Amino acid sequence: FTVAVQRLQSVAPDGTCAVLTLHDVTALRRAEQTRVDFVANASHEIRTPLTTLLGFIETLQGPAKDDPQAHAMFLDIMQGEAQRMARLVEDLLSLSRIEQHEHEHPTTRVALGPLLERVVAGLQPQADQRRSTIKLTIEGAATVIGTADELVQLTQNLIVNALKYGKEGGLVTVTVTRKPAAPPAMPPPAFGAIAIAICDDGEGIPRAHLPRLTERFYRVDPARSKSQGGTGLGLAIVKHIINRHRGSLRIESDVGKGTCVYTYLPAAERD
Ligand code: ADP
Repeated sequence: FTVAVQRLQSVAPDGTCAVLTLHDVTALRRAEQTRVDFVANASHEIRTPLTTLLGFIETLQGPAKDDPQAHAMFLDIMQGEAQRMARLVEDLLSLSRIEQHEHEHPTTRVALGPLLERVVAGLQPQADQRRSTIKLTIEGAATVIGTADELVQLTQNLIVNALKYGKEGGLVTVTVTRKPAAPPAMPPPAFGAIAIAICDDGEGIPRAHLPRLTERFYRVDPARSKSQGGTGLGLAIVKHIINRHRGSLRIESDVGKGTCVYTYLPAAERD
């Protein structure tokens, strides 16, 4: 516990009376620490590509000034670093936008079928690059209460992770099913829940890491995440979108076999 002590003094008719108030500020201190850590981590993540960029600019202005071959190679690297910074800033903005509205719950109906078909079609080039296949199965009407843009972002982040951390030439399955009973972790929806299961056949995640995966910038293998263009914010964004939708998230993983991420959302209608 962290306790803040506030001492008040008041004068009563029969003399001075001291009132001692104790406040448990553990949660407040923890939130403040999280904020401080976040600013430090975000600054570090931005500084790394920036330092690389500045280094290459200096080399291009100095020792490599008249070397066209070096120019082409360095510009390529610089473009990669600038793109990394752009992705990071995009994700930071998304996170802050979603966090700002986390307590405004969506009220519109979104049909997951056409939405997921669009998302999967958009990720086909990325799947082709890894020679992987995405298999989409939708059972029933699959209409949820949600915000379409955020559900696109949520499913995109999870399918991209399944492609990145799945086997090369592997299979990613996206399966949407109705669940008559919602998991206890979400407020009971009027018409039950709809589950989106996104599974891959990659290396899996050791159990000890599972509870921390949705923390900002938490990565199991930082080098692997960075080499795949990861910002470390994908699952944090997913978690906030799910909170806003009053849904729930479960990650199951078997080391050496693969990972399944289950998202539960409130159904918009009875089955
Ligand atoms: P990143 O941009 O690093 O992918 P995320 O927030 O999306 O960030 O994920 C956090 C970490 O969780 C990743 O760095 C990776 O270590 C792990 N992870 C996420 N999805 C998977 C998956 N499908 N298989 C294995 N590891 C995963």
